[in-house]
Order: sequence, then C-alpha cells, then structure tokens
Amino acid sequence: MTFDYLHISTELRSFENCFSIGRTAENRQLFCVSIGEGEKNAVFAACFHGLEYLTAAALLEFTKKYVTMNEYHKKLRLFFIPMMNPDGAEIALHGLNPKNVLHQNIIKEIGIIDVKNMWQANSMGVDINHNFDADWKSIYLAPQPSRYGGKYPESELETRALVKFLKRTEPELFIAFHSQGKEIYYDFNGLESESAKENAEYVAKITGYEASVPEGTATFGGAKDYYIQEYHKEAYTVELGMGKNPLPHSALPEMINDVYNIGRNFIEKTFPN
Ligand SMILES: [Zn+2]
Repeated sequence: MTFDYLHISTELRSFENCFSIGRTAENRQLFCVSIGEGEKNAVFAACFHGLEYLTAAALLEFTKKYVTMNEYHKKLRLFFIPMMNPDGAEIALHGLNPKNVLHQNIIKEIGIIDVKNMWQANSMGVDINHNFDADWKSIYLAPQPSRYGGKYPESELETRALVKFLKRTEPELFIAFHSQGKEIYYDFNGLESESAKENAEYVAKITGYEASVPEGTATFGGAKDYYIQEYHKEAYTVELGMGKNPLPHSALPEMINDVYNIGRNFIEKTFPN
C-alpha cells in the first residue's frame, strides 16, 4: 500500500538528514527530515489523524520538492514530519488486529467495528489532536475512533514527542496539515500573532482556501492551539482537499499542489528577504 507507514518511512529514511523525534505505542518511529541550514526554523507536520493518511503522502512530496528549492536553504531550516500518527494510519488502512494487545483493549472498549472509515485516533484510542495542553477537555471517558482527548493532556507518546520537539526548535512557523475542507485555521483564544489573520487570509486567497475560525469539537487540545498558546508565533492548521475522509486517492495530486502553494506562500510571508 503506497500510503502506509512502511512506504512513507522508507522514503523519509532515504533523505540525507532524517531522524526520529519519538516512538509510538506500537513502536513505530516519528520520522523527521531536516532541510536547510538557516538559523530560523519552521516545522511542517501531517497525518495527525488516521484517516488522513493522504496528507502524509502530500507532505512527503513537498519534502522531495523542497530539496530543490535552494533559495530557502540558507536562511531557513525546515523540519518535515509527514506522519505524526503512524499507528492510527495503519489502523485506518488495514483495520484492527485482534492479535495485537493494544487493539484488543480498543476492541474491548468499543467492540469490533469497521474502523477503516472512521479511525482518527492512535492505537490507544486517543485523538492526538485533542491531547495537547491547550483548552484540553474530555468529552469522552474512554478510547474512541476519534475525538477522545485522553486521560490527561499530553498522555500520548506522539503528543509528548511533538511538544518536546517544538520546545527544542521553537519554529517561527508551524503548520499542521489535516484533511479535509480547504480551510486554514489561524487563531487560538486571541493569542495568535498579530499577523496571523492577515497572513492566513493572504494565503487563502491565492490558493482558493478559506481562512477560518474553528467551532465546536475542532476547538480543543490541538497542536497548533498549543503552539500559539505557548509561543505566540505563526501556527496554522491547514485542512487539505474537499470531500469525506478518507479522501479518494484521486484527490492526492491536488493536495500535493496545495501543500506546495500553501507551504511556499507561508514561508514567503513568515521569512521575507
Ligand atoms: Zn485531522
């Protein structure tokens, strides 16, 4: 399967500077590729949610392309983490495995279900993008295919790995790629940088996306929320593509194109010459 962990991680490990920022409960690596040697940092991450595995493939393609974009390499160090939730992507692609102890726990909680069209969480049944310590709350008490924020903030390995990495790198720009909706979320409780709205609207306009403010269940415990809250720097959630997750493979070319346009324009805005 072209979009699974084996494929994505094999491709990532072929880059000159690839390392792991942490491991998952199922012992998969959270691979990161670093390109450029500038003093300032940016972090692009994708596939926080299982069903959104196409975002990993789209960000991987941008990583390959970015190797050739020499004009940025001197001023900027860009870190790519295309698959933040490899365990969840594997479950979304291949289903739950009754022989896997972690999956047995999930099956005990929610029964045997066809998870391939609903699995957003990690292999603990926790939604990573509701597990960050930013307006964290628990709307469920137990593992779920999506939207369970965990027992407490940063309970998950993936969350802690990213928090630690953001603390170490303090990027001027952090983009979390999700699907779907063709939207760019830029705010968090009014703590976002002064230029966030303007930059989001600028990039939205040239890419055909919408600069949006989240509502309802999209609003708690997210990665970009956490980064805005702690560092008040440029941080965005980009919802790639349009349709129902998992998006069809035919959506990938447009998603690749959108990652390129959105990524490049945010870089231009955040790191002007
Ligand atoms: Zn998502």
